[in-house]
Amino acid sequence: MQVYRLPVLSDNYIFLLHDRDRHTVAVVDPAQAQPVLQQLQALGAELTAIFNTHHHSDHVGGNQQLIDRFPQVTVYGGAEDRGRIPGQQVFLQAGDRVSFANRTASILFIPGHTKAHIAYYFPPNNPDESGELFCGDTLFAGGCGRLFEGTPAQMVASLSQLRNLPDNTRVWCAHEYTLKNLQFALSVDGDNLDLQHRFAEVKAARSLAQATVPSSIALEKSTNPFLRWDYPSLQSAANSQDPVQTFARLRGMKDQF
Ligand code: ZN
Ligand code: FE
Repeated sequence: MQVYRLPVLSDNYIFLLHDRDRHTVAVVDPAQAQPVLQQLQALGAELTAIFNTHHHSDHVGGNQQLIDRFPQVTVYGGAEDRGRIPGQQVFLQAGDRVSFANRTASILFIPGHTKAHIAYYFPPNNPDESGELFCGDTLFAGGCGRLFEGTPAQMVASLSQLRNLPDNTRVWCAHEYTLKNLQFALSVDGDNLDLQHRFAEVKAARSLAQATVPSSIALEKSTNPFLRWDYPSLQSAANSQDPVQTFARLRGMKDQF
């Protein structure tokens, strides 16, 4: 299963999963249809699945046009997004499994950004493969999504699930927000050497217009302030010793940043 990353809109990414043996593609969060259709043509592949993480228009905007072009496509989304995702046919809950190519994803229920948000986690089939996590707008490289429909406690529980995935899991988040996220991270965790190093790398990459996605769970655990609510440095920045309150205060500071 090869993953392709398409930059669209101002800072979104659409991901295509390609099954080279069957000449099929599954698309994650098609913000727009046209870039997906072009890539399908370049690959000579049919679209068989749409995997939506949540209902926001910059994640489902291309659904209807793709359904019109490929009427056989199956549209997946979270059970609690019923009525909010165009063409949704499969209503997924925590622990459900979805297969594509030779891989099977576990569905993680990760509310917080929205009340229905899910992630698709494809564990490796063998030690040579990495796991692939498609986490929409919940975990970003160096940051996390805003809390539109959920509470800090829900988001901490959701991010905890992601933090517990294997270190080498590749993190395919839906926006290129990394540089801005790391600027904020430095303002609350400035003594973190891993973070300083990552910031320099990301700054260089962005100056060349290179993507910083995918990230990895290991990198996020060592540098993302929104996975570090139990570290003394972040607790002191948030002036709290409570994990959820630390997270909530950091999220509030980021909203103002
Ligand atoms: Zn969103
Ligand atoms: Fe988004």
